Amino acid sequence: MLISMWKKLALVGLTATALVATAAEKPNVVIVATGGTIAGAGASTANSAVYQSAKVKVDQLIVAVPELTNVANVRGEQIFAIGSESFTNDRLLELGKRISALSKQADVDGIVITHGTDTLEETAYFLNLTVHTDKPIVVVGSMRPSTAMSADGVLNLYDAVVVAGSPDAKGKGVLVTMNDQIDSGRDITKAVNIKTSAFSSQWGPLGMVVEGKNYWFRAPVKRHTTQSEFDIDKINQLAPVEIVYAYGNVPPTLYEAAAAGGAKAIIHAGVGNGGMGKWLVPTLQNIRQQGVQIIRAARVPNGIVIRNADQPDDKYDWVVAHDLNPQKARILASIALTQTNSSQELQRIFWEY
Ligand code: ASP
Repeated sequence: MLISMWKKLALVGLTATALVATAAEKPNVVIVATGGTIAGAGASTANSAVYQSAKVKVDQLIVAVPELTNVANVRGEQIFAIGSESFTNDRLLELGKRISALSKQADVDGIVITHGTDTLEETAYFLNLTVHTDKPIVVVGSMRPSTAMSADGVLNLYDAVVVAGSPDAKGKGVLVTMNDQIDSGRDITKAVNIKTSAFSSQWGPLGMVVEGKNYWFRAPVKRHTTQSEFDIDKINQLAPVEIVYAYGNVPPTLYEAAAAGGAKAIIHAGVGNGGMGKWLVPTLQNIRQQGVQIIRAARVPNGIVIRNADQPDDKYDWVVAHDLNPQKARILASIALTQTNSSQELQRIFWEY
């Protein structure tokens, strides 16, 4: 009887110690909210596609998921309240600088950014390229507004906080948690709209997060965050870079308009292997001779552009976007062209990042 009481006391003691230790050891995660569908609200629970984004403030999001406090000490910051289609270069710079500042704070172990899904891949890649930290930064969104039946934002947010607070997520670059997957911010793209399985990575996810536990299967090999030569703290303006989407019969005037508008580079969202109709070639050569960089990307989902295949890039002094889709190529070129205007340097950067 006495023994069992001691046992009981020991158990109670252990439990109490464990609880105290857990509370003290919980990671500090800051949720920086920008808006999007994860903060969206519709007129009824049946509205999964017709709703207004960026309606719910970050503190309400946190209160709505009490489970977050089991896994982290969470606090929120509302930096913007916009749909991600309204992200501009200035917003990217403002967000990046704030994330960089937070990542330098000793009382911050990880950062979650709630974001609309439409341009989430651009922001995630931008941060991956420019924020110098090995602390986990996780970008998250949802496909259904918070008011909808079977809203996906709650679990996505919980997963994001779990990953952001995990020491095993350190040094892997900026991550995205959607639909139980952990993806690299470099690779991920919105591949389907409407469905909750909207996001995919050409080279596969890095891992899964299930019931608050991470399962890792691979790590990024391209340069990011702490190994990047680009530093958000030193970038105050991005270079103007425009995308022109190619199709049969695309007129050269679209490229000329981009150059006349002051673009330092034009991303050619080309057919097949970054290809183009032969009537475009003289125009693009001419634009290059004016000093504007020509970067051949592919409009094909999961495309890779091979240098000197389809077009003689060496001869024309053009650059290829490697496996980056046109919108990610724009992000990389906008950053890289703040530091160089050499096409060789630009090509090296496209291989390495
Ligand atoms: N238009 C919304 C946005 O990107 C869509 C979403 O979040 O899913 O902000």
